[in-house]
Amino acid sequence: MYMRINGVEVPSASAEWRDVMNPATGEVIDRVPDGTSGDVGVAVESAESAFQKWSEKTTRERGVLLFHAASMVRDDHKHLARLLTMEQGKPLREATDEVRGFCNVLEFYAGLSSQPAGDAVRLGSQGDCMVLHEPLGVCGAIIPWNMPVLIMGWKTAPALLAGNTMVLKPSTTAPLTILSISAILEKAGLPPGVLNIVTGSGGSTGEAIITHPSVQKVSFTGSCATGCRVRELAGSCNKDVVLELGGSDPMIVMDDADVQKAVEGALRGRFYNAGQICTAVKRLFVHQDIAGSFISQLKVRVESFHVGNGLDPQTEMGPLNNLQQYDTLSGIMKSVKENGEGTILTGGSPVKGEGYDNGYFFEPTLVGDVAEDSSLLTGEIFGPILPVVVFHDLDTAISKVNRSPYGLGTSVWTRDLATVKRVFQDVHAGIIWVNRHVTVPPEIPFGGTKESGTGRENGYRALHGYTRTKTLFLGW
Ligand code: NAD
Repeated sequence: MYMRINGVEVPSASAEWRDVMNPATGEVIDRVPDGTSGDVGVAVESAESAFQKWSEKTTRERGVLLFHAASMVRDDHKHLARLLTMEQGKPLREATDEVRGFCNVLEFYAGLSSQPAGDAVRLGSQGDCMVLHEPLGVCGAIIPWNMPVLIMGWKTAPALLAGNTMVLKPSTTAPLTILSISAILEKAGLPPGVLNIVTGSGGSTGEAIITHPSVQKVSFTGSCATGCRVRELAGSCNKDVVLELGGSDPMIVMDDADVQKAVEGALRGRFYNAGQICTAVKRLFVHQDIAGSFISQLKVRVESFHVGNGLDPQTEMGPLNNLQQYDTLSGIMKSVKENGEGTILTGGSPVKGEGYDNGYFFEPTLVGDVAEDSSLLTGEIFGPILPVVVFHDLDTAISKVNRSPYGLGTSVWTRDLATVKRVFQDVHAGIIWVNRHVTVPPEIPFGGTKESGTGRENGYRALHGYTRTKTLFLGW
């Protein structure tokens, strides 16, 4: 596939290409241009040229277009979901959910198009003010590979509805569905240059987007390490930046929890998308009074999991997305085994054998008796490994939970309102779920505290994040 700049397919000026592989089979399924800073420059120019006409449309006109685009993407969801599975690895069911999730985001923001685009403020004898929310101009978006389509929606929908234009860089390992969707948005009527997709590496195209003087704001989703670099670059040119970074979300299961429901919550929370979700359950805290039965039920369910190619309808968990992921998780488990950082309750190794040898398959894994300084508890484990910690009172659980440098989400599983109140008040996180985990619908703000980032996506407030106010003060 080619990049999409100014509504057309283009190769890179470098004439270099990057292969995109199916992580389940090791086969090359396509290739994309290896973009350069020169390609970013062309894309930004297109976005600048498109800005005036796009921002002069009414918000309602832009909303109608987003509604229409969502419906065209829905019509093509089977093909898009298949492509997403092939480049990303996730089961077809999850890929379908993600494509539909993208449409939901577009529709949510389109639905906000009838909201007022400003306020009137009366100041008595001093006069009256009109406060307008203006679009910023060209915005940049940098996307990871784990939920590429959904995250594309989180960034493009509010930015475009507000009247901005955009240059977006997908990850190197999952750019294809994003490119296909952007072509559909253009067919739906998005004018050329409003959304430009530049493929390529973070160091070249990513940094060129952040530092380009005409890019007004950058929304980045990715790891904490890259987030630090992005913050530094954006700061050096005094640029507004949203950082949606990693997490190590805890799930706290109290002794009054509905155990069966919590077991299913832990399964979905940890193993959906092979555990490669920022808000996945990455640390499980279980009250000692129910720990025995909870852990044995969870282990039975984990051991029955069907791991395989996401295109196989039987598959409940696909491969990891890429070799780096595979090597990182293998290394983590090697260290856990060699250094006695915990007891492996099930799994713990790559999956080998016929049908698995060319893919990045990893066993769903549970680890008990985890050492407090193990990277399973101190870092972000971006894959299907779940450390389980048994606790005897809520105070201890909260203090262990807050020891993490991350603060994205937390769930508590209980029937007791006082416990909910305590967790809501004292746990450091951007979202607290009660009796569920992971779900992030477009209606609610999403983002973290501490090293999990700054800024929020989703919800009506994210729309304001893509505008600046301009005030007319009428001193009568
Ligand atoms: P990553 O940081 O390696 O890459 C993310 C994107 O940044 C990619 O497009 C990459 O090419 C680009 N990039 C890399 N170096 C760059 C640089 N120097 N300048 C600009 N861009 C650069 O992350 P990943 O491995 O793709 O994604 C996994 C991480 O993303 C996990 O830590 C996960 O928790 C996090 N994540 C966070 C959220 C959230 O909303 N908080 C959502 C999804 C994923």
